[in-house]
Amino acid sequence: MLQFDQVSKSYPGGFVALDRISFRLEKGEMAFLTGHSGAGKSTLLKLISLIERPSAGRVLINDIELSRIKRSQIPFVRRDVGIIFQNHRLLMNHTVFDNVALPLVIEGFTGKEMVKRVHAALDKVGLLDKVRCLPATLSGGEQQRVGIARAVVNKPPLLLADEPTGNLDPDLSKDTMRVFEAFNQVGVSVLVATHDLGLVARMKYRTLTLKHGRMINDGLLQYQEPV
Ligand code: ADP
Ligand code: ADP
Repeated sequence: MLQFDQVSKSYPGGFVALDRISFRLEKGEMAFLTGHSGAGKSTLLKLISLIERPSAGRVLINDIELSRIKRSQIPFVRRDVGIIFQNHRLLMNHTVFDNVALPLVIEGFTGKEMVKRVHAALDKVGLLDKVRCLPATLSGGEQQRVGIARAVVNKPPLLLADEPTGNLDPDLSKDTMRVFEAFNQVGVSVLVATHDLGLVARMKYRTLTLKHGRMINDGLLQYQEPV
């Protein structure tokens, strides 16, 4: 599904945010991406979502090398990648329905098919009863789930989340992770960037660990809860 092959990223000024990163995420696999603040997690996700370009190496989605695609093809690759942001980035003066429908509107969906898909996405995150609400009337956890519904509404095979539990308490964080697990269980590949090591260790998934732009671990995380 996703492959990094010796990928480096230097920002203007020469700062090396990622240093020769290689890994594969198989179709239907779920993994965490962790590391200290500034380790390169967001940069890695930005390379997948084509917000940034690598300075060296190759990023492939479904065997398509992202640096080789034409700009006109970018929307088609982006369609395969659902992205969940920490701060939701919801349109606050639009209803939950409108927020979730946005990716479909961009793709030209209308009428019954659009309504059906929006309702299906909201159902998956348990928010069908909030379809007519404005985001401001929802709790932080519910707003996060609206963001997830929007990311999955056009059924991307790959889901990326950048610190999705950053603003949530431990119970809500766990709920959010259960939502990702549910998508993973129906075949979606999931990559979740988080610095919440306690949560990561409890979930028992493959964990990619970055430190100063280098991959220092790839496997189950061994972590002792602080006492
Ligand atoms: P993380 O998500 O793990 O906190 P980031 O990928 O956001 O890490 O950042 C990695 C490093 O790259 C940080 O030192 C950050 O300051 C730097 N960085 C991120 N974005 C830019 C940018 N647009 N220009 C210059 N440096 C950047
Ligand atoms: P950019 O916006 O970076 O120039 P484009 O994809 O728009 O990227 O165009 C790159 C080149 O490829 C242009 O010469 C364009 O005419 C050509 N091109 C774009 N799309 C197609 C296509 N579907 N078939 C053939 N050539 C194309």
